[in-house]
Amino acid sequence: MLLTISTTHQPATDLGYLLHKNPARLQTVAVAAGQAHIFYPEATAERCTVALLLDIDPVALVRSHRGPAGEGFALEQYVNDRPYVASSFFSVALGKAFNTALNGTCKERPDLPEQRLPLAATVAVMPAASAEQLRRLFEPLGYEVEVEAHPLDPTVPEWGNSRYFTLRLQHPAVRLQELLSHLYVLIPVLDRGDKHYWVAQAEAEKLLRRGAAWLPQHPEREFITRRYLRFAEYVNPTLERLLAAEQAATDDVAADAREEIALAETAAILTSGGSVVPAAEKQNLHDLRLDRVAEELRRLGAQRVLDLGCGEGKLVRRLLKLPQVEHILALDVSWRELERAQQRLNIAEMPPRQRERLTLTQGSLLYHDPRLAGYDAAAVVEVIEHLDESRLAAFEQVVFARARPGAVLVTTPNAEYNQRYEALSAGEFRHEDHRFEWTQAQFAEWAAGVAERNGYRVRIEPLGPEVAEHGAPSQLAVFER
Ligand code: SAH
Repeated sequence: MLLTISTTHQPATDLGYLLHKNPARLQTVAVAAGQAHIFYPEATAERCTVALLLDIDPVALVRSHRGPAGEGFALEQYVNDRPYVASSFFSVALGKAFNTALNGTCKERPDLPEQRLPLAATVAVMPAASAEQLRRLFEPLGYEVEVEAHPLDPTVPEWGNSRYFTLRLQHPAVRLQELLSHLYVLIPVLDRGDKHYWVAQAEAEKLLRRGAAWLPQHPEREFITRRYLRFAEYVNPTLERLLAAEQAATDDVAADAREEIALAETAAILTSGGSVVPAAEKQNLHDLRLDRVAEELRRLGAQRVLDLGCGEGKLVRRLLKLPQVEHILALDVSWRELERAQQRLNIAEMPPRQRERLTLTQGSLLYHDPRLAGYDAAAVVEVIEHLDESRLAAFEQVVFARARPGAVLVTTPNAEYNQRYEALSAGEFRHEDHRFEWTQAQFAEWAAGVAERNGYRVRIEPLGPEVAEHGAPSQLAVFER
């Protein structure tokens, strides 16, 4: 298997410094079941090309039990495509041969790794489902992609093309480290052959490290992560961490919007009914919601409590004041919100015994999370409307079927009440990140289904001052096992 990388950057021989490999010498490094040779077919000031040739010994592969299982045909253990195609073996060789460049370091010329160069790479034999798939993966990264399909057998054209392609990539200005990390991650993604070593947490770490700069923005990030990791249980936390990084950028906007709507809700309450507003109604609706939920948790006698989608920790603050509460696990998908929670709750200054009562952690309610098991109650305050309606089934699985706390308290806006908000035009939601807002009947129907499917009973209460016809601004469902 052969990879070449060329540049026309001047002087082109800078490539040798970048790769930490002298253009005048052939170098060989030992890798799993073979050798990787590094040499330069051309090295002039105008143009320089480095070649990485991986020479795998299929017999050694079998002896080390790293080869294919050989279920296809008798000699498959010995006769297979591993020595010839770009596979995870090749990524490992790339990582070993070009380690310093992959890490973006260059001792002799520290300025070089940061430079964007015109680079071209050719992967001699790349397995892929289609030429289209290769384009979908490499074009979003800024490459001009040229794909040459290879027939299964040139003498029998009616057999059509094989799943092997020659891939040529060109980029006018890319850092070598970027090109190498793209190949390092995408080669095993494209190769459907089994990864030759156990995919584990360490792999997820590598993916995060090598993909951190580009994977979150890649339109195929889910496919790439899934294929790279193979074993589903590692996929979700890894994806979440990648997505969280991206989400942080949008969090500020969301948080600002949340404060604004809180004000809108408050203003609306102050004028509701038109005439004299009772003192209780002057309270901010959100405070009222949180007080109500805390009160319900107290009444339930919950000692171990989940705060799911905890935001900046307004409920946590209330729960810490309840002596009965021994432990709170507060979880949110957004790092930004968790940071705010950390500051607002002043965790750094908390006495150790208080701090031990609280775990603040990042996670998503759409993916099974074993840490959520074993709690007396869960609060999910103004969170479900931030989830895509199509993902509510996943939320239900995670919270009601898998985590199964003794009680679950869910609050969500009552869409019927929106008519009373002057700032909202018809059909508009209270918050720009809301994916839906339900009427009382819609919430009741969803809650009844969840309760029935998961062995809970449920009652629904209005939250906030009720008005004729529209009901209360918010609604609370209390599920109990
Ligand atoms: N419960 C808090 C915050 C409500 S705002 C309060 O009442 O003050 C909604 C919160 O849900 C946000 O902090 C948002 O980051 C979080 N969230 C959205 N989608 C999530 C998901 N899939 N998993 C966990 N939290 C999520």
